[in-house]
Parts: sequence; C-alpha cells; structure tokens
Amino acid sequence: MAKLLEIESLRAGYGSINVLWDLSLSIEEGKLTCILGPNGGGKTTLLRAIMGLVKTESGRVLYQGRDRTNAPTWDMVADGVAMIPEGRMVFRDMSVADNLLMGAFPKKCRANAPKNLQMVYDMFPRLYERRDQLAGALSGGEAQMLAMGRGLMEEPKLILVDEPSLGLAPVVVDEVMGILDRLKQEGLTIVLVEQNTNKALKIADHVYLVRGGKVVLSETADSVDLGRLHDLYFARDT
Ligand code: ATP
Repeated sequence: MAKLLEIESLRAGYGSINVLWDLSLSIEEGKLTCILGPNGGGKTTLLRAIMGLVKTESGRVLYQGRDRTNAPTWDMVADGVAMIPEGRMVFRDMSVADNLLMGAFPKKCRANAPKNLQMVYDMFPRLYERRDQLAGALSGGEAQMLAMGRGLMEEPKLILVDEPSLGLAPVVVDEVMGILDRLKQEGLTIVLVEQNTNKALKIADHVYLVRGGKVVLSETADSVDLGRLHDLYFARDT
C-alpha cells in the first residue's frame, strides 16, 4: 500500500513552547490510522502542523510524496486534506445547509456542491431533516455529523478527525465510529485522534500512541498488546 502522508522528525509548537519532539509516522492510503494518547500529548498539534496551522520548526510533512512542510492551509485543503476539528467548530448562527456549503468553498469543489450535498444528506439523514435549522440548535452528535459532512463537502482524499467522540453518549459514539468505518470502506484515508481507545481500536488498521510529543508505540491494530498500550499510555514522561 502506498503511503499518502509521511511525517519525518517533526518539531513544532507554539512560539517558544515546543510540543512535538522529532515525531515520525506514516499514513497508508485507504487505511484508518488511529492516534491515541493522553491529554496534552500533542495529537491536536500534530494535526495542526499537517494543516499548516502550526509552524514546523524542523522535520518534514510529505503528502503524496511531495514536501508540504509549512504549506498554507488552503493549499492542503485544495490538495484534498480536510480537518474535522475537536469541538466540531460549526457555525452556530448559520443553518445546517449553509454550514455544509461552507465546506464547498474551495474552488475545485464548488461545481460539485449540489451533488456532494445530496451525498452528505444520504449519509446523514438527520442533517437533511434539520437542514434549515440553526447549527447551534443541534445535539452534540448531530453537530459532530455536521462537522464530518462539512469536511466531506471538500472532496477530501484524507480526513484528519480530532476526538469526534468527545462528550457524546456511547450509542452516538458507536454511530460516529460506524460512519468512519463506512468512509474507509469507500476508500477514504482517515487519521483519527481519539481518547476512546476501545472503540477506536475496533475500526483502526494501525495505531500510534503519542505521548510527550513523541511516538511511543506503533502497531497494527490487530496485534496491539492492550496491557502494554495501557502501561505506555499512563507512563510518566521523563
Ligand atoms: P488533548 O487531548 O487535551 O486535546 P492533545 O494531545 O491533542 O491533547 P495538544 O492539544 O496538541 O494535545 O496540546 C499539546 C500541548 O500544547 C499542551 O501542553 C497544550 O497546553 C499546548 N498548547 C496547545 N495549544 C496551544 C496554544 N495555542 N498555545 C500554547 N500552547 C498550546
């Protein structure tokens, strides 16, 4: 399988605060890669660095074999990388339909917006039912679906999904995981940042554990030793 995204010795952070310390990993095309790790380990910072939202100090981001280190966010989006952020970040004062259409803002997907909107409504019937309501009135699960639908309107090849299960009831988490699994079956490459280890492992192909800004474990999901994962997850950083 081809590698769609490769992160090589990435060092990045916020001003004088460094968060990622020579972090390396690779994402295979058509697979679901899960990035697990405790709070503050640097998972969101990694996604932001890939999207050009955080400056990379050293190391490289290779996407489709090209060096895209510190590429502007709009270029990454235009090349098919969509971020579905933690906390959903929907536009609360806009309707569900308008939120989705915001995802079709990149030039290359404007012409396909009506077709893609239909595809999103087919995947998330509840968004269709609520298309004229304000996004601020949605439940947490519906808002997560809206955030995912908006990302899909960008016609991505790769989606970076940051903690979609946060604050959702278990049954809704299952629904969200089911949708991610279905998107993978349809050929999308997915990077899933999660703290819900058990549910994420059920749909993941590969797992990385990120702690203290480094990869401390890299395993295929079906070979991961849960005891070792647990110990590394809760180990103290030195
Ligand atoms: P969480 O699960 O809590 O989101 P995470 O693994 O995604 O954790 P990050 O959000 O990447 O971790 O945060 C890593 C570190 O960077 C933390 O110590 C955090 O306080 C710090 N940090 C995050 N955003 C900023 C910012 N805008 N300015 C300064 N420091 C930040």
